[in-house]
Amino acid sequence: MQYVLRGRPPGCIACEALAGGVNAETLVLHRGEHAFLMLNRYPYNVGHVMICPVRHLVDPSEMTDAEMLETMKLLARCGDLFRRTMNAGGVNAGLNLGAASGGSVDHLHLHAVPRWVGDTNFISIIGGTKTLLETLEGTWTRLRKEIEAW
Ligand SMILES: [Zn+2]
Repeated sequence: MQYVLRGRPPGCIACEALAGGVNAETLVLHRGEHAFLMLNRYPYNVGHVMICPVRHLVDPSEMTDAEMLETMKLLARCGDLFRRTMNAGGVNAGLNLGAASGGSVDHLHLHAVPRWVGDTNFISIIGGTKTLLETLEGTWTRLRKEIEAW
């Protein structure tokens, strides 16, 4: 409800978050040279992160080799991050490209969502409602603690 009522912020939410630094308010977890990792403010599941190029890009065809490499390296690390911090048993990763794809953020981003065996429940399926068992700040703190050791 908070999301519906507040409307969309001006500018790019990914660029604005990155400009605000690595902290629980911006939800940015890690800044690399070409790519960064941030929590999704409207997660599909606890721990849902987005891996974004540092440059404001819209389409993967605009990415340099270095940006692609660092983005995929961060994705590869997410599996271990989710397993170590949340005991996750898997990761869903994906891109929504183009206006018809359902994406809501212009800044190119790769979703990485931790999964657990049996994590889909009747509320999600029947009610179309998602319950999250942890606050975003709690998730940020848990993931950031592990990332500080990178
Ligand atoms: Zn941007």
